Amino acid sequence: MSVKMIKKNVKTILKELPKSATLVAASKTRNVEEINQAISAGASVFGENYVQEAKSKIEVIGHKVKWHFVGHLQRNKVKLAVKLFDLIETLDSWALAQVLEKECQKQSKIIEVLIEVNSAEEPQKNGVMPQDVVDLVSKLEKCKFVKLKGLMTMGPLVDSPEKIRPFFKRTKELYDKLKQSYLKKDEIVYLSMGMSDTYKIAVEEGANLVRIGTKIFGQRKCQINK
Ligand SMILES: *Cc1c(COP(=O)(O)O)cnc(C)c1O
Repeated sequence: MSVKMIKKNVKTILKELPKSATLVAASKTRNVEEINQAISAGASVFGENYVQEAKSKIEVIGHKVKWHFVGHLQRNKVKLAVKLFDLIETLDSWALAQVLEKECQKQSKIIEVLIEVNSAEEPQKNGVMPQDVVDLVSKLEKCKFVKLKGLMTMGPLVDSPEKIRPFFKRTKELYDKLKQSYLKKDEIVYLSMGMSDTYKIAVEEGANLVRIGTKIFGQRKCQINK
């Protein structure tokens, strides 16, 4: 994809998204030049899947934009992830939350997180099962440094986008419940759902963060993490 196309794609997406929704440009495998093109077209949040890969880009581009971690966070990468990222979209266990809490205390940094919900209850996938979200949420209420901001879901791989709608609906229901019942309910503001093929459906179902890669940057040369 030419750099010109990246700009055009970002502008098109930003124009059609409702004001309530924020674009998270999924920039795994993309280089600094590509990301800068997206920034110049108005993208202000980027999602990265690998801590080490993100490090080199964030060090160059800096924090004039926000960086979300959207991959599976390994314990041995927590220290660096806390340093680099503004928000971790993929909190998937209390064990990981505890490691994050400890590291944030060391760094005197608050980290914002979303709980990743395994909305299709796929055993091989990361994320918290829908029925276990309440339990994790109640534990997170005690955290001083890990700050819960909402929910994220990937949903299952589907052969037609419409098939993902029930899983977005289900995650939205959990989100609404969380907004009502959480001790610090004013802090619950993000619902991250939808990718290139499904973000329009996600927005219809209440997403206010959409994670889009291919539709901005073109096909990835190597398909990772999919
Ligand atoms: C890569 C990725 C996306 C974007 O996927 P596209 O189909 O390229 O838009 C969204 N969310 C996560 C977690 C990803 O890893």
